[in-house]
Amino acid sequence: MNAVNQKVQKALSNTDFPDLKFLYSPEVLAQAPKILEELLEEEKADFENKLKIKDEDISFEIFEDFSKLDYFFGLLEHYQWVHNDDIIRKIIEDFEPKYVDFGNEVSYSKRYYDMLKICLENNNLDQQQARIISKSIESFDVRWISLPQDDQEELKKINKELSELSQKFSNNVLDSKKEFEYIITDKNILSEMPNDDIDAAVHRAKEKKKEGYLFDASQWSYMSIMKYCSDQNVRKDFYDSRNTFATSGKHNNKALILKILTARDKKAKLLGFDNYAGLSLKFKMAESPEQIINLFAQLSEKAKPKSKQELDEIREYFKLDDLKLWDTGYYARKLKEEKYSLDDKQLKKYFEFESVLTGMFTIINKLYWIEMKKLEVESYNQDVSVYEVSQNGKFLSYFFTDYFYNELKRPWAWANILREKYENNKKIIVNVCNFQKAADGKTLLTLSDVETMFHEFGHATHEMLSCSTHSELSGFHVEWDFVELPSQLLENWCRDRQGMSLFAKHVDTGESVPEEMLEKLELLDNFGTGEFILAQNTYAMMDMGLHSQGIPSSEEALDNFVIKNYDINSSLSRGDVYSPHTTFTHIFDGWYAAGYYSYMWAEIIEKEVWKAFKDSWDIFSPEVSEKFLRDILSAGTTKKASELFRDFFWRDVRIDAFLNEKGLI
Ligand SMILES: [Zn+2]
Repeated sequence: MNAVNQKVQKALSNTDFPDLKFLYSPEVLAQAPKILEELLEEEKADFENKLKIKDEDISFEIFEDFSKLDYFFGLLEHYQWVHNDDIIRKIIEDFEPKYVDFGNEVSYSKRYYDMLKICLENNNLDQQQARIISKSIESFDVRWISLPQDDQEELKKINKELSELSQKFSNNVLDSKKEFEYIITDKNILSEMPNDDIDAAVHRAKEKKKEGYLFDASQWSYMSIMKYCSDQNVRKDFYDSRNTFATSGKHNNKALILKILTARDKKAKLLGFDNYAGLSLKFKMAESPEQIINLFAQLSEKAKPKSKQELDEIREYFKLDDLKLWDTGYYARKLKEEKYSLDDKQLKKYFEFESVLTGMFTIINKLYWIEMKKLEVESYNQDVSVYEVSQNGKFLSYFFTDYFYNELKRPWAWANILREKYENNKKIIVNVCNFQKAADGKTLLTLSDVETMFHEFGHATHEMLSCSTHSELSGFHVEWDFVELPSQLLENWCRDRQGMSLFAKHVDTGESVPEEMLEKLELLDNFGTGEFILAQNTYAMMDMGLHSQGIPSSEEALDNFVIKNYDINSSLSRGDVYSPHTTFTHIFDGWYAAGYYSYMWAEIIEKEVWKAFKDSWDIFSPEVSEKFLRDILSAGTTKKASELFRDFFWRDVRIDAFLNEKGLI
């Protein structure tokens, strides 16, 4: 082992503050491939030895140990996400396949699975240990490891078939869109379009050696036309095209959808579920397809009057006799600009970065008594700040912030754990954003930047505050339709007047946001929510219905289901051409099958908690925050999300708070 390697091993064994400046230094990166290989060999040998342990010697401890390999690889992955140059990319790309292979070896080890079951049966486990082992067993179960040989073979075949079908589905979507181009030569009909959109359309036309403005089948082109093109016929053309992609000829996806649904249904039944929705919900908070379908049906009914009101307002304001689906985006945007316009440049002056950050820390302190102490240490780049987080004097975690844009960083925002808690290990959590840094040091944020900052910090606090000593049961590991609760919830404090008053001060004068602006912000909050909810519901209900209410018997029956679903959930009549399912890659080639509801679900449960604060007449109510901290945040994943929710509310999910907040009742 050479000197650098030794130093790295020492740095990785350090349970306290991590020296990321050293771990990301050129000398370490040069050695990283070798070190990763060595760590992998060690882990493989450990795993082999584990499998040899005799049944009577199996204890809980053998399933829980800190992996230096996971820690180091996780750190390198983080570095790739924030600093994606050729060096780090090559390290990750070369090592990842081996890492994944080893992960699969563990995930599909029959002996390991049997050992987990023995551990659960033969040991006197406490509640948390039993939950960890049961969760592992469940994840093995859906990987079919416990099934008889014949069924395993059958499942393998289905999985292979499904992956081919999904791939074909996506290819059909791509291929049917590929040829589509729409050239506009009359600049007048684009006079309301932002310059960036126009420039891009000119650029695309030039690339194809054509005159005028070229729009293609991308979502971006679609939104651009639907919102800004003043010619109704062009908007209708676009709308119709979108609804004819992958509907006929060699790219027709309808037969594939039926095959995908059938294969998923077979798979679910082999694994002991009634249907695919049952399998999908096994690892989510929502308990049954019926629960979702009932809630969302109520939601559609409640959203319809608001949607009608929104459409009437548009008709009256623009003196229109008729309003079609391809008109709503255009007129809603115009109405918003003309009637509720807010000067974003002026608003930004109230959101100076340092002031927002300090205000956010004050808010979190008022809610959960968290103290953030900035450490004077260097990290991997000069924009990274490091905090020591504590609660009532007790250390919780280290917190890294990497808030500013740089060209090597992934262009979005996220929260992540860099090191999990294990024995003496101190947790490390990071928030990454892409705010544009001002040269003079006074960076001004948009309201959406502020919301992003609060959102990611909400995720971070969930992890900071979860108190289980087992990393598997911390906040980041909850069911994925529950994981957005703390993050979306915290956003409410940055939009609320009282919350905003703690950080929004004019950068030059120090004044608070004027009343007129606050009123407009509140109006904008509920602008178009009726229509938006109905649109989201239509997708969620289509997804859940197709995965739980029997498979349509023919392509025609499939189309009828989709059309009926739209008609039930909408207040605006659809066009003659309507076919959102044939391009719905989210559910036919993605992770959202029988899970599309989760977008809206996260908001429903988040508004329930927010209402509990508001009902107490104090958004910093110690009673409510203490209860939320105890029942949900600090509980992490020690119980099922549905149980945590019941601990807090003593009942199941309801939609009233959401309806109220969205202006629907
Ligand atoms: Zn999130």
